[in-house]
Amino acid sequence: MARLLFTSRNFSSLDSSVDNQAGNKLTNLIGKPVVFMNQSHSNLVSVVSDTAISPDADGLVTTNRDIALAVRVADCLPLLLISSESVSAVHVGRKGLLNQVALNAVEKMKELGSTQITGLVGPHICGACYEVDSQMYEEIVKDHPATGGKVNHLNLFAGLESQLTGIKLTNLSLCTMENPEYFSYRAGDKTGRQVGVISL
Ligand SMILES: [Zn+2]
Repeated sequence: MARLLFTSRNFSSLDSSVDNQAGNKLTNLIGKPVVFMNQSHSNLVSVVSDTAISPDADGLVTTNRDIALAVRVADCLPLLLISSESVSAVHVGRKGLLNQVALNAVEKMKELGSTQITGLVGPHICGACYEVDSQMYEEIVKDHPATGGKVNHLNLFAGLESQLTGIKLTNLSLCTMENPEYFSYRAGDKTGRQVGVISL
């Protein structure tokens, strides 16, 4: 049974310069050393077997039960993918939806023998809060109609759900912009980040 957690503002920030204290606290909480990644809204997914490096990636996959995987967010979707054979942590923002990073993660999990995959999406900006300009809205909704709803607002969860056909996704429905307990880039947290963490 996979173990997973999401941190909040109270835990303290886990931004790219993870301070050792916060990192150690996270390891103690999940009970395993945690692998982070250098995220850049890419579609790169890295299969990791130890904590030696933090790969340049926006998705991590592992079959190793002795490590945990972390994704940092502050409005984007922290997607945790669960199966009996492997787990994955994926960073899905607007760019990640377009470049299909989550599909790449699912593909890697299948290559590693995963058949039944489910997903959980932690705190992120909701479709009622994520406003973009009309040009961007139209460009995205044209190819990803599920993201459309309220005019000039993008529902990234709905877009992801329609992209990951056949995978049951659960949305914790916690909006980072509306809920002060979470870091939100749009609400003014330029560096603060919470994490989603998963291990087999
Ligand atoms: Zn909201």
